[in-house]
Amino acid sequence: MTSPQKPALELLIAAPRGFCAGVDRAIQIVELAIERYGAPVYVRHEIVHNKFVVDSLKAKGAVFVEELDQVPDGVTVVFSAHGVPKVVPAKAAERGLSYLDATCPLVSKVHRQAERLVASGRHILFVGHAGHPEVIGTFGQVPDGNMTLIETEADAEALMPADPDNLAFLTQTTLSVDDTAAIMNVLMRRFPTIVAPKADDICYATSNRQNAVKAIANACDMVVVIGAPNSSNSLRLVEVAEREGTTAKLIQRAPDLDLDLLAGVGTLGIAAGASAPELLVRELVDHLATKFEITEREVETTRETLTFKLPRELQAA
Ligand code: SF4
Repeated sequence: MTSPQKPALELLIAAPRGFCAGVDRAIQIVELAIERYGAPVYVRHEIVHNKFVVDSLKAKGAVFVEELDQVPDGVTVVFSAHGVPKVVPAKAAERGLSYLDATCPLVSKVHRQAERLVASGRHILFVGHAGHPEVIGTFGQVPDGNMTLIETEADAEALMPADPDNLAFLTQTTLSVDDTAAIMNVLMRRFPTIVAPKADDICYATSNRQNAVKAIANACDMVVVIGAPNSSNSLRLVEVAEREGTTAKLIQRAPDLDLDLLAGVGTLGIAAGASAPELLVRELVDHLATKFEITEREVETTRETLTFKLPRELQAA
């Protein structure tokens, strides 16, 4: 007896996708720290926003905590890729804890800009999402009261700063390129003397992944983004596809996608946020192949070659 023919499904796989240089470096830092100092190695906050990555590191000997006071004396602690307020390394040093900072160098760059702007007497308008660890970390680089959060164009329109001629702005690294441009336009219109960075601080990985989704979305009946619900850059990829008029769905792992939802879908786009490993993309393709006769095509909009150096303590001797 012949098995019934599976329906055809074309996959357009966005590239670049998945791990960026900052995530790759942060994961390597935890793995090398376990190798070098032995388990357990404590990590303050999810090292990157991906459950699969966190669980894999737990299995190797990492212990994830939210605050430093959950870290026992005498162990090594790693700070996550999102960055931490200055008070965190200061407290670790006070307790004599040895720590490794996995803050992405592109986030650290924003931290240094914030310090310089405040030293020059400017009040910073920080474009970002309330409660995101990167925002908390960046606010924690300067004394309280020197930074105001702007989340939306409406916030930018409503702002009544005490000294409107003495402002500067910075942005979170994982925002929507289009939304941020709109907010920047409002700020520059309302405050013509505002000090603006040469470009926004949205990182190369965030913009490349958004462009890659834009490039496929129109040709797709649906786009699936692999990423965590607390991953800012992954959520932005869903928005990018939706703005192109294409239904988009965020999933953490392949089984989260109900294949019955794909009835009538001839072309499916696949993208992955900066903290999602390639393994999860392959897992999704295999999952789809159980029900569909798939053909795959990768659509590459740019090639990424950036890598970041490891902290000195972990570089090979
Ligand atoms: S998304 Fe950008 S800022 Fe965040 S870790 Fe990756 S490269 Fe760094």
